[in-house]
Formats: sequence, structure tokens, C-alpha cells
Amino acid sequence: MSVTLHIAAGPWRDRVRRYVDDAAAAGVTVVPVAKGNGYGFGNAVLAAESAALGVTTVAAGTYEEVPAVAQAFGGDVLVLTPWRPWLDGGFGDERVVHTVSRLEDLRALATGDARPRVVVEVLTSMRRHGVAAGDLAEVAKLIDGVRFEGFALHLPLTGDHTAEATALARQAFEAAPAAPRTVWVSHLTPAKAAAVARDTGAEVRLRVATALWLGDRTGLTAKATVLDVHRVRRGETFGYRQRRARRDGTLLVVAGGTAHGIAMQAPSAATTLRQRATALARGGLEAGGRALSPFRVAGRQRWFAEPPHMQCSMIWLPADATPPAVGDQIDVEVRFTTTTFDTLAWG
Ligand SMILES: *Cc1c(COP(=O)(O)O)cnc(C)c1O
Repeated sequence: MSVTLHIAAGPWRDRVRRYVDDAAAAGVTVVPVAKGNGYGFGNAVLAAESAALGVTTVAAGTYEEVPAVAQAFGGDVLVLTPWRPWLDGGFGDERVVHTVSRLEDLRALATGDARPRVVVEVLTSMRRHGVAAGDLAEVAKLIDGVRFEGFALHLPLTGDHTAEATALARQAFEAAPAAPRTVWVSHLTPAKAAAVARDTGAEVRLRVATALWLGDRTGLTAKATVLDVHRVRRGETFGYRQRRARRDGTLLVVAGGTAHGIAMQAPSAATTLRQRATALARGGLEAGGRALSPFRVAGRQRWFAEPPHMQCSMIWLPADATPPAVGDQIDVEVRFTTTTFDTLAWG
């Protein structure tokens, strides 16, 4: 009785597997990413699903996320956030592959005794992390001091960056001809990653989450439980803020609040002047502070009666709409990257 992610298990798993298999057929190895809120599923679930897929490596976002991922997945865990000197003690687990994105960090690791497993990230037009292409000759001198497992390229989402990836991979391999020809890419399609593999002769590993886990959302439905239903008469007050009802209606208390990451911000469609005006014209709504909620009741997205609470929300239902019953499940529109579900229901 909560905020639930319903998953059509068979079709969802089939599609995830097809993504991995199709990439493999094109010569690209998929590295599933499990990080942050676990794209709605949670990292432990994604790690377990990755294990079932039979992949050799999963990528976690941060060092803090590694234990949960490594517990549910028995293979290697690549950490996407680059290693930094204050993460000194991070070399205990032989399954962990570190990302190194600065010459000084690579130098520190190469001169130490740990000989960690390392992927060197090269700066792309994304400009988040990475050693400059001009420093690749320096990188080449240091990689014998670590267990070098390839170069990483994090590419922007907009535009076609296949040529950029190919050019950077070639530069990297030219600078370090004796190094394994492996490149870990992000945000290329499997087809484009395959083109990089073909044009560079490299083994390409595609780090991917959204296109893998959320590539087809038809089998993913978010539902919220109706926890309470109150008839409200015009003039009566409600909620923390003691707003006054401008008309008769129904107050719905539904599962899902700020703790779920639900309704942290009004959907952009709700913020247009026209919608505000429409809302005002309908009456019962104040001009300021009202937001269209992500909850759907009787086929329509409904307005918040007041800002969401920690674990539930108060929704205003006009008198002409038939209220749901306590215990009913209503649709809620979510962003999977910001929502924490109470439960997953595999159907
Ligand atoms: C998060 C992340 C990914 C996965 O991103 P999606 O867009 O969800 O596929 C890949 N690479 C890096 C470096 C990331 O940080």
C-alpha cells in the first residue's frame, strides 16, 4: 500500500536481454550501469538482473555504491566516478575497477604498491572528467604501474559523437601501443559503438543504463495507493497550510511525497500561463502556489491541494469527479531517475 513500480517481468527482461545480445552480435560488450536511485529499480535489483544476464562487469556510480552492487553481482564492478587521493583505502576489493581521470592521480596510483585495476578516462567534448588528449603520452609512461584495463570516453547525449570517440580512441592507442585495445564508451548506441570498434580495432564496452533498463517503458507502470478520502465543503480548511476550499470537493490523501522524489517540481506543462488561467477559470484554485500533481484520477492529472508531504500528498478532486476508494491504486507519472519506490511488483 504505497508507491509501487509494476514491471511486466517477462517482456521487460526479454527486452533487456535482447539489447545485450544484439550489442554482442554487433561486437559490443554491454556494461550495465547501476547507480543513484537505481533508475527506479534500486541498485541491488539492477545488479541481480545484471548477474542473470551473464555480463562480466557492472558499473556503479560512486565508491559508496560499490558494496550494494558487489553483493548482488559476483563479477567486476567499474566505478564511474573517478578515483581521487582522499579515497586512499579503496583497493581492498580485487573486483573493483577504478576510473582515473587526472595525470596526478594516475601517478599516485602507479607509484604506490597497490597496482589497482584502472581505466583511464580521456576528456571528451562533454568536459566532465578526463585527462586531456595532449597528455596521453604521459599516461602511456605510467600505465605499467597499474593494471591498465582500457580507456574511457564519456560522450554528450546530443549530436553524433561517433567520430569523436573514434578519433580519441585512435589517439589513445597510438600513444600507448602496448596497452590493451579496450575502450569503455558512454552514450553511444550499440550500432555507433560497433562502428567505433570496427574503425579502431578495439574491444568496445558500452556503459549504459537508461537505454538498457528504461528503453521501453510500456511494461513499467507507477501506481500510488489512495490512503484516505475526505469530502470537503466550500469554506472548510484543510492541510498544514489551512487553505480554505473555494468549492465543495474531495480531498484525496495518496501515497507518494517528497521522500519518494515524487512531485518535487511541477511538470513543465503545468507551469504555462494558459494552464494557470484555465485553473483559475475553473474556480477553487488559488493563483499562487498551486501545482498540477503527477497523480491521475478518473483519467485526468489532478492538482495538489497543498505542497506534497514527506510520504503522502493531498490531492484536490472537484465535486463532479467520482473519488476513488481507500485502497485503490491510481496512476502516478514519475521520472524514473528521481523516484524511490516503496515496492516493486513483478507481474
Ligand atoms: C550514468 C552514466 C552512464 C549511464 O548513463 P545513461 O544515460 O543512463 O545510460 C554511463 N556513463 C557514465 C560515465 C555515467 O556517469
